[in-house]
Amino acid sequence: MPLETVKLTASFKLDGSFPESLFSTYREVLGQLLDYAWAKGITSFERLKAEKYYELRARYPSLPSHYIYTACQMACSIYKSFRKLKRRGVAKAERPAFKKQVVMLDDHLFSLDLEGWEASIAVEGGRVRVRLLHGTYHEKFKGMRVGQAWLVKRGSDLYLKVVFSKVVEVTEVNERAVAVDVNENNVAFGTMERVVNVETRERIVRTAYFLKRRRLQSKPRLNEKPLLAKYRGRERRRVEAIYHKIAKEVVAKAKEVGASTIVMEDLENIRRKYRKGRSKAINGRLNRWGFRKLQRIVEYKAKLAGLNVVYVDAKGTSSLCPMCGGRLSPNGHRRLKCKCGLEEDRDIIAVKNLLRRYRMDVGASPVHPEGPPMTTERGEKCEGGRDESLF
Ligand SMILES: [Zn+2]
Repeated sequence: MPLETVKLTASFKLDGSFPESLFSTYREVLGQLLDYAWAKGITSFERLKAEKYYELRARYPSLPSHYIYTACQMACSIYKSFRKLKRRGVAKAERPAFKKQVVMLDDHLFSLDLEGWEASIAVEGGRVRVRLLHGTYHEKFKGMRVGQAWLVKRGSDLYLKVVFSKVVEVTEVNERAVAVDVNENNVAFGTMERVVNVETRERIVRTAYFLKRRRLQSKPRLNEKPLLAKYRGRERRRVEAIYHKIAKEVVAKAKEVGASTIVMEDLENIRRKYRKGRSKAINGRLNRWGFRKLQRIVEYKAKLAGLNVVYVDAKGTSSLCPMCGGRLSPNGHRRLKCKCGLEEDRDIIAVKNLLRRYRMDVGASPVHPEGPPMTTERGEKCEGGRDESLF
């Protein structure tokens, strides 16, 4: 059976004093690497390491050497993201910079003792033991391998974000699949025979907290920051609880119908769907909206259950007929119809289009062979462990 790697991130709050200098030294090192990568146009970790390692090693002799490796990795990935933004013309700065208090660790630089709730972290001139206060650690991490991690400082709070990974066996791909169409206020999923539409009420939750936050900000008073953080945490937990519930239902559905694969639309497609005709305020809300988060939760739950996960470019999911490929026209509230006689809710149509795209991808016969060819493109595989909020 094919193998897949599942990656999950757990976040632990750390206790006690931690040498401040690690953050400042690391930032210096990262800054120099970033400047160099930018000046020379280097995106390869191997090349950056080859050209800068010994110089930095000599300049920072008390810094454990693996920090230079991880700083090379971070510098490459920050520079790459910057270059991508620059090409799209949306980078604000002239050159890449990294101002956050983040240190990347590899497995030589830290170890976790989950029985004693302690972490041991390499610092300049030795190792320190830090107590783990609390974290998003869960039973499901048991038996998973500990990979890389990030030390993140927010105000006076210190967090350790650890990536756990596990290799799982997934079933051989067949043409049976369950597709998931994510929208701002609902998620539709299912098969060609049956599609379920779940109201997420996410927009309601988000808008309520958005207004609450704005009310707080408009009445400045002492210590509003902890309150704001509290609301933000509550909002996140409520929305995540919704995501987990939906993801569970999606996986159960796939198991029930004997599907081998979960199909979702790739990120670019979702962006395209919401790009047009939106005001700035709505765009702000959409940026906070975590459709990618939902996809990631579905992805790891699916893989742990032995299912494949495929992302398809579903351009035109809401404008083309899933049966004949013809252009759809509106037919009342949220309904669409086609000349071939199909008439359905647009969320159901989106799910069926994802399935159609997937079937063309795996080479199964399309629902209707005379339909116009659609471009298919496998989406980029998800890096479940990477915490994108850090970059
Ligand atoms: Zn049609």
